[in-house]
Amino acid sequence: MLRLIGSALTIGSLIFIVACATTPNAAVKNTTKTFTTVVVDAGHGGKDNGAYRRYGPPEKMATLDVAQRLERKLRESQINTIMTRSSDVFIPLNDRVAIENAQKSAIFVSIHFNDSRRRGIRGFETYYHSSASFDLANQIQSKLMTIPHSANRGIHTANFRVLRLATCPAALVECGFLSNRTEGNEARDWEYRELLADRIAEAIVEQRYGPGVYRGSAQVAAQSQTQPTSAGTGAAAPPATSR
Ligand SMILES: [Zn+2]
Repeated sequence: MLRLIGSALTIGSLIFIVACATTPNAAVKNTTKTFTTVVVDAGHGGKDNGAYRRYGPPEKMATLDVAQRLERKLRESQINTIMTRSSDVFIPLNDRVAIENAQKSAIFVSIHFNDSRRRGIRGFETYYHSSASFDLANQIQSKLMTIPHSANRGIHTANFRVLRLATCPAALVECGFLSNRTEGNEARDWEYRELLADRIAEAIVEQRYGPGVYRGSAQVAAQSQTQPTSAGTGAAAPPATSR
C-alpha cells in the first residue's frame, strides 16, 4: 500500500513537472533581434522518410539539402549555425528540442516539405507557436512569396513539439507540396532548393540586422530576374528556368 502511495506521488510529481515544462510561452526568450546562433533543423531523416511521393524526392533528402544550403548562407552572413542533423540519420523530436534549447541566444528554423492527398494543393506555409516567434515566421513566409509563381498558404500556429517546447523563437517552414506535380518536380531541382535556402536566409538575416543587409549568391540573383520588380545585376540572365 505504501508502495502504491509512493507510486501515486511519483506519478503526481511527474504530471506536475510535465505540466510545467509545457506551460505555453512562459519561458520563451525573445531573441528575434539579438540572436547570435541559428539552429537549423532538417526535418525527418534515417528511418523516417517524411512525405514520399511520386513527383518529389523523399522529404528527408530535400529537407537536408535545403538545410545545408541555408546553413552555408547563414555562415557566409557571419551568423553561427548548429545543425540538428547533417546526414541521413534519425533524430528523435525530443533530441531536437534539447539541441534548440541548449543555446543561449538562438532562434530555431525547421525545414519541411508538405504532403496532401489532394494533388492540386500547393504553396508555402510557415508555422510558429509562441508570440515571440511571430515576426520570424512572418518574415520567412514573406520572403518565400518573392519566389516567382509562388502560392501563399499563410502563417499559422501549430503545436508541433519542436515549436511548442522551444524556449527561443522558433518557426517551421513547409517549402511546398511534394504531392503536387509542379512543386514536387521543383524540389528535385537543386537550383530551386538553392533559391528556397536563399529566401529563408534572407529572411533570417533581415530579421536580425534589418532590410538590405543580406547578400545572396549571383546565381540566385539571376534567377530572381524573372520578377518584373527585380532591379537585376546587369548580367545576361537566362530565361525563367525554375518551372
Ligand atoms: Zn515533414
